[in-house]
Amino acid sequence: MTEITQFDQLDIGEELLRAVKEMGFSQPTPIQARTIPLMLEGLDVIAKAPTGTGKTCAFGIPLIECLNTACTDIQAVVVCPTRELCLQITEELRALARFRPDVRVVAIYGGQPIRKQLDALKKQPHIVVATPGRLLDHMGRGTAWLGNVYTAVLDEADEMLKMGFIRDVRKILNATPADTQIVMFSATISREVMDVSWEYQNAPEEITVAAEGDDRPDIAQFKMQAEGGARVQDMLDIIKALDLHRVMIFGNMKATVRQLDDKLRKRGLSVDCLHGDMPQSQRNRVMSSYRDGKLEMLVATDVAARGIDVDDVEAVFNYDLPDENEYYVHRIGRTGRAKRHGVAFTFYSPEDVFRLRDIAKYTRSDITPFTLNEARVPVLEDGTPIAAMLEAKETTV
Ligand code: ADP
Ligand code: MG
Repeated sequence: MTEITQFDQLDIGEELLRAVKEMGFSQPTPIQARTIPLMLEGLDVIAKAPTGTGKTCAFGIPLIECLNTACTDIQAVVVCPTRELCLQITEELRALARFRPDVRVVAIYGGQPIRKQLDALKKQPHIVVATPGRLLDHMGRGTAWLGNVYTAVLDEADEMLKMGFIRDVRKILNATPADTQIVMFSATISREVMDVSWEYQNAPEEITVAAEGDDRPDIAQFKMQAEGGARVQDMLDIIKALDLHRVMIFGNMKATVRQLDDKLRKRGLSVDCLHGDMPQSQRNRVMSSYRDGKLEMLVATDVAARGIDVDDVEAVFNYDLPDENEYYVHRIGRTGRAKRHGVAFTFYSPEDVFRLRDIAKYTRSDITPFTLNEARVPVLEDGTPIAAMLEAKETTV
C-alpha cells in the first residue's frame, strides 16, 4: 500500500475533505494516515498512540464516511471514559460532519439529566458517543439499541478499563452484532486492553505510533524544588516572566485544586477549576470558557482533565507530582499538541526526588532543573533565562 500523506488520497467524501480543511488540518497525522484506510476497509484495529496525535479524527473520519444515513438505527458507538472526553469527541465529530447535515451525533454521559438524552436518542442518531455506565442504562431502558451497530470504538481504552469499566464495556460489546468492527485506541496496551482485544477483535490490525520521533509533542520540561507554600508565587513569577496567558495547572487532590483556585482568584487572576465534585453543567461552563480563551488559567485534577483536548495551552504546571507516571504524560500532553511547542514546569519537594527520577525514566523525558533568580526570572542552572531558550527554539523550527 502506498503511503498516504494527503487527505485527498483517502477514499473519503468531498464534504469530509472540506470539513478537515476548515478545521485547519493540512495533512493527516501518522495515526490518521494509517488507521483511516484500515477502518474504511472494515477491519478491526488496535492502535497505540500517545496523546495529541490526532486519534479522534483517525476514527471520526471513517465512522462518518461509512454511515448509511438513510438507516435510522445506531450504526456506530464510541465508548470513552469521561464525560469531558465524550463531549469533546462529539464536538469533533460534529465539526467533521459540518457539511453532512444528514449525520446525527449524540453524546450520552452520566451526570446529565436522562430526559434530555432521551429526547436526543429519539431523534435517531447514527453515531452515539458515550460513557459506559450511562449507555448501559439506556440499553436497559430500551432507549438505545446496538443490534445494528457496524463499528464500535473504544477510545482511551487503557484508562477506561483501568477505571473499572471492563464489565460494562463487555456488556456493551456483547450487545453489538458478532461481526461488528471493533476499533481500540490506547496510549498503552495494558493487560486489560489485550484481554478485551483477544476476546472481541477478529484478526486486528495493530498500529503503533511511537512516542518518539516526529510526532512526539515538542515539550520543553523543567523542574524546580519548591516549598509548598511558595509555589503559588513561584508560579505567578514564571507566568509573568514568560508572559503566559493560557496555562493549565494540575493538582492531585480536589482540595488542593479548590484552594489553589481560591488563592489565584483572590489575587484577581482569570482562573477557574475543574474537579470531580462539580456538577456537570458547571464543568461544561468552565471548559468552554477556557477553550474560548475567556479564562487564562485552569486548575484541574487528573481525573477531571483526562482526555480533554484544549488547544494552544502555552504551559502546564505540575503544582505537585502526579500520583502515577502515566499522569505525567497526560498532564504535559495538554501542551505541545499537534506539533506546537509547549512547556511544562514541575514543582517537587526533597522527598519527591526519587519519584521524579522514576517519572522521567518511565516517560523517557528530559526534565531540566531551573530556579528563579533574584529578579524572580526563571533561569537554567547556568543562568540562561528560560524565555531566551524557548525563543531560540521557536525560531529554529
Ligand atoms: P489524541 O486523541 O490522540 O490525544 P486529538 O484527537 O485530541 O488527539 O487531537 C489533538 C489535537 O490535534 C486536536 O486539537 C486536533 O484538533 C488536532 N489535530 C487532529 N488532526 C490533525 C491534523 N491532521 N493536523 C493538525 N492538527 C490535527
Ligand atoms: Mg483522544
